[in-house]
Amino acid sequence: MLYVVVLGVPGAGKGTQAKRLSAALGLPHVSSGDLFREHIQNGTPLGIEAQRHIDRGQLVPDEATIGMVRGRLERPDAASGAILDGFPRTIPQADALEAIAKDFDATVGPAFHIRVPLERLVDRMAGRRVCREAGHVYHLAYNPPKQAGVCDVDGSELVQREDDQPETVRNRVQVYEKLTAPLVAFYRSRGVLQEVNGDQPMGAVTAEILAILGQEAAR
Ligand code: ADP
Ligand code: ADP
Repeated sequence: MLYVVVLGVPGAGKGTQAKRLSAALGLPHVSSGDLFREHIQNGTPLGIEAQRHIDRGQLVPDEATIGMVRGRLERPDAASGAILDGFPRTIPQADALEAIAKDFDATVGPAFHIRVPLERLVDRMAGRRVCREAGHVYHLAYNPPKQAGVCDVDGSELVQREDDQPETVRNRVQVYEKLTAPLVAFYRSRGVLQEVNGDQPMGAVTAEILAILGQEAAR
């Protein structure tokens, strides 16, 4: 069983690719950001704690994050693996994932690093819209809904995420550089890092990742 890791700056396309990989490989898409947003919507104690950090563009503390993701990976649908989007985001989280994998007899990797030039992110974040009901993701220019302002899947209203405001995005990118970028070297040293060009249409990025997975499977 496999934990496929998807890494990249905010807006690189992790969620977009993780969803497509989930469909292609039949493994659940596990997004720590989505899990936090669910807790926030449900008003749980974890949601209340997480929101304080998310609104400032800071990371939620490791302990709370690791406990939440471990709980998700214990669920039966993750018994043959998962596509991890946005977790791990720190070295202690990466260490914790190794421990979880050991407990569940899973392999960590490949870790796909989706690379996008920083100047592209402004555009990606400014145009991102999500639906109120379930967080389905669109882009005003690159992935517009059929009807402006309405989710194709569930008909709910499309809104901008609070933490996608430019000021918060700047913090998130700084936090990424400091705490998350070291994971690239972490996974490279374990021999499972795969660099992917994220600066191309969504389908081309998916094709690049699936080609790498095909090559790995053939080895
Ligand atoms: P993006 O897709 O733009 O990278 P996410 O939806 O993954 O953003 O995450 C939104 C916010 O949730 C992050 O800015 C952070 O505050 C929090 N978060 C998500 N994943 C983690 C994590 N693994 N560790 C700590 N905080 C996290
Ligand atoms: P992340 O999860 O890394 O924060 P998302 O998958 O949410 O990134 O993508 C950020 C925004 O950019 C979304 O509005 C998405 O529709 C759009 N997007 C994702 N991948 C691409 C791509 N390859 N080309 C253009 N826009 C993209």
